[in-house]
Amino acid sequence: MSNENKSIHEFDFNLICEYFSNIERQGPGSPEATLQALSFIDPLNPQSQIADLGCGTGGQTRILAQHTQGQITGMDLFPYFIDLFNRKAAGLNLQDRVKGIVGSMDDLPFREEELDLIWSEGAIYNIGFQRGLNEWRKFIKTGGYIAVSEVSWFTGERPSEIQDFWTDAYPEIDTIPNKIAQVQKAGYILVASFIIPEDCWTDHFYSPQVKVQEAFLKKYNGNQTVEEFIRNQRHEAQLYSKYKEYYGYVFYIGKKIG
Ligand code: SAH
Repeated sequence: MSNENKSIHEFDFNLICEYFSNIERQGPGSPEATLQALSFIDPLNPQSQIADLGCGTGGQTRILAQHTQGQITGMDLFPYFIDLFNRKAAGLNLQDRVKGIVGSMDDLPFREEELDLIWSEGAIYNIGFQRGLNEWRKFIKTGGYIAVSEVSWFTGERPSEIQDFWTDAYPEIDTIPNKIAQVQKAGYILVASFIIPEDCWTDHFYSPQVKVQEAFLKKYNGNQTVEEFIRNQRHEAQLYSKYKEYYGYVFYIGKKIG
């Protein structure tokens, strides 16, 4: 990589952080969907250990913290998100139970069988669904849970425009039955799966970005990287509105068996 490219990529990285730190969630989701997923999990106690992997700035982590007992470790690759995560936790006086750490989901700092629950909303794709299910399993206690949301096809076939977009963005995208089979194959009982509602994409994800996009285009007036980035975000939102019958995020909740 030439130095010129490197600086462009570093800028991209900071830009993406800045952009997404302006919205409550960095992926599709909502407090209601988080609580629905949580409703399938046996009650946790003050000793319970929970990890939220790819937590971003912690929108869903704070909902979890307010509706469970136990210690929550949020982990994200981006230090900027973790800074915000910890500041927001402190703002809600949750700092004793909720801690954000910088790290990568492919190298978890937990002990074997330490965790009662692994949570990951809109983030497991970074390691890959099957790899994440398999590699994270050893950190979960027998009888403990995993709850992840993952982009999935709702139908067996779909128009080529959306097929091509997602196959390129995330080749591991698959149908719900195939994803469920992968959950079972990785050594979990499927406790529940449900499609998260459309408002998780619209009201909670794409709509809040509209203002941020306008502000960004003003702030970085004439910057081609910014313009291209925002074009891509808008394109993704348009594809969602056109093809939302064919795909969406699905929560998969599994219980680790012996
Ligand atoms: N769970 C949050 C954020 C989802 S966006 C929400 O639902 O709002 C995906 C997140 O995964 C981003 O915050 C990104 O920084 C993080 N991420 C990407 N690669 C990662 C990795 N290897 N390890 C940990 N986090 C990662």
